[in-house]
Amino acid sequence: MLHDPDLASTPLSADAAARYRRHARDWLASHLPTHMRADSLDYRSPTLEESREWEAAMHQAGLAGMTWPTVYGGHGLGLREHLAVNQEVGALLMPDSVSSIGKELAGPIIMGVGTEAQKQSFLPNILAMREFWCQGFSEPDAGSDLARLRTKAVREGEQWRINGQKIWTSGAAKAHYCLLLARTGTVADRHRGLLMFAVPMDTPGIRVVPIKSIDNKDSFAEVFFDDVVVPDSARLGAPDEGWAAALKVLTIERATNRMYRPWRFESEMGFLVRALRSDPLLSRQLEDAGVQRQLGDVLGEIDAHKGLVHRSVDQIMAGESVGARGSLTKLFWSECHQAFAGFALSQVSQIGPQSSPLAQRARKFFTQAYLFSRAETIYAGTSEVQLDLIAQRILQLPREH
Ligand SMILES: Cc1cc2nc3c(=O)[nH]c(=O)nc-3n(C[C@H](O)[C@H](O)[C@H](O)COP(=O)(O)OP(=O)(O)OC[C@H]3O[C@@H](n4cnc5c(N)ncnc54)[C@H](O)[C@@H]3O)c2cc1C
Repeated sequence: MLHDPDLASTPLSADAAARYRRHARDWLASHLPTHMRADSLDYRSPTLEESREWEAAMHQAGLAGMTWPTVYGGHGLGLREHLAVNQEVGALLMPDSVSSIGKELAGPIIMGVGTEAQKQSFLPNILAMREFWCQGFSEPDAGSDLARLRTKAVREGEQWRINGQKIWTSGAAKAHYCLLLARTGTVADRHRGLLMFAVPMDTPGIRVVPIKSIDNKDSFAEVFFDDVVVPDSARLGAPDEGWAAALKVLTIERATNRMYRPWRFESEMGFLVRALRSDPLLSRQLEDAGVQRQLGDVLGEIDAHKGLVHRSVDQIMAGESVGARGSLTKLFWSECHQAFAGFALSQVSQIGPQSSPLAQRARKFFTQAYLFSRAETIYAGTSEVQLDLIAQRILQLPREH
């Protein structure tokens, strides 16, 4: 959806855009089940099927695939409408998409480099939540430096034989397809000779081994490819286009994926304050000048983060590439949100069985948020890597020798 300025160039008039935002707000307010709101006392973690149904309903209501062409199941709107919906989504503490890799990474790549047949076969199924995707980039020896990846794809006539191993593959256990980055040449070729594939996860020779994360979820996995044979029609783009396509994925991941983040961050901060206020003992923490200063700092960070999102949208709308500035956005949101999660956890650590029910809910929420936030400065490129990119590509500083 965000891969191509052309897709962001059919904005509605200001009036129609405002009506669209109201529609998003009203629809979400009247349809989001209370048990899916993390700040509700009725909250329970939705099952995969509940999330699937919810996101399919959002798509039907015009709240997913906003910028995708209608011929592929999208709504043919502009990036501003996409942003407006994201702002409304972020205003409610609803679950993250269970198909963000399909909707925000695989979909844009397929639109960018896929054949017409691939677009028609994959894109509508992603939006209708019939098919989930995972992203098979990282390997045990190739994470920050993806150019070291070893998973090998060898052409055999009209098919490809794939051997290798991926790791940290989010959502692999539920995925129908893997957006796989593989090597057609030797490791010495580095960025050349990389190729992207859409590999069906039920192909013989694929083995998924779940990895438990710190928050006790099986959200990612190791994926082994042993003599996996796919037809040439599984190839996404030309043999040497793999690296350029991978960079597009990484730019989306860093700059524009989950655009609702700062608005959700604001909702989390609002929840923390409401939860502390709901309890006479805990509300005293809010009188502390140090706590007030920290909350004020967080508010400033949220505003700055909103500014970075708006700037990315403006750049894409103007036909410019976000490029290395995506690293600035990624670094900023992950570091600020991780620090906030630590602060929030310290505020809810006094909450016990005698505290108000909302405070107890907040304790569970912020404990999970804190644990997951440890990963935020790692996935989509670590903070150190973003700092390197900012130094070299934005500030044009010399590389360290
Ligand atoms: C929750 C989560 C979900 C993920 N989901 C996926 C997924 O779906 N698909 C996928 O392909 N990958 C996924 N990843 C993997 C993620 O992209 C990698 O973990 C990340 O790119 C870092 O690679 P690495 O783990 O190999 O660490 P390494 O690259 O080995 O880095 C180790 C340490 O060295 C530092 N370092 C490395 N290079 C440099 C450098 N040049 N300069 C300074 N410091 C450096 C790093 O910052 C880090 O601190 C996920 C990771 C997490 C945590």
